[in-house]
Amino acid sequence: MKQNLALYGLLLLMISSGLISCGNSFNVFSPDQDVAFGQSVRDEILANTFEYTVWNREDYPEPYHVLDSITQEILNTGSVKYKDRFPWELYIIENDEIPNAFCAPGGYIFVYTGLMKYVHTVDELAGVMAHEIAHADCRHSTSQLTKQYGISIILQLILGENGAFIGDLTNSLITLGYSRQNEKEADSYGVTYLCNSGFEADASKRFFQRLSEESGSFTMPTFLSTHPDDGSRVQNIEKQSLEMNCPRPSQTIEKDLRLIRLFLPDYSL
Ligand SMILES: [Zn+2]
Repeated sequence: MKQNLALYGLLLLMISSGLISCGNSFNVFSPDQDVAFGQSVRDEILANTFEYTVWNREDYPEPYHVLDSITQEILNTGSVKYKDRFPWELYIIENDEIPNAFCAPGGYIFVYTGLMKYVHTVDELAGVMAHEIAHADCRHSTSQLTKQYGISIILQLILGENGAFIGDLTNSLITLGYSRQNEKEADSYGVTYLCNSGFEADASKRFFQRLSEESGSFTMPTFLSTHPDDGSRVQNIEKQSLEMNCPRPSQTIEKDLRLIRLFLPDYSL
């Protein structure tokens, strides 16, 4: 019992300390549990064909090829902590009304066709994907779960059997959003990833700018991905890119965006 109390105190201290940075915030879950959560989310999405039309790779090899290439370029920058530990699976969801992507814990990336339609350049697309990859790599979802569930349940998780509990938590995970701090970190790490890639590091700022100007005309998803604009995100992305002296690559793979769009329903070039 004394040991439990000591552990309780330690947990309380760590949770309240607020010493937060990507991947270092207190998280009671292991990276393998992030993957287990992500698999549950993926399985639910793939099984829910009423709500999600997921393109299969055999029918849409070209768009998958382009998005896989973007993902690999981001993962190969050397800045993604869980590059080799998370599976980084990618899926395209057909829904032209949702200009978004999300990444479930453990690196399960979902990109809506609406995002591919909405971006103006491949670099913008890479910017949004880098932001989502950062959410998974920083393990934001399970950090949020850790905060949300409080110490007693966390102790139960540590000290008891946790297999079934993981399943129960998946539903909570789906309804949890990210904190403003999470969004800031994902923006920042997104720029860091892209600064070491062939993409324009601050291209996502144009996406966020347009999104905040036009958000009234879209149905924005709340599922695992929110993009609240506190007015400083665009400036922060731009500032960091300048401070890091990120190169400004030319738009050499613009043709790939055209290639993706050839496969989008109801889109004319
Ligand atoms: Zn986000």
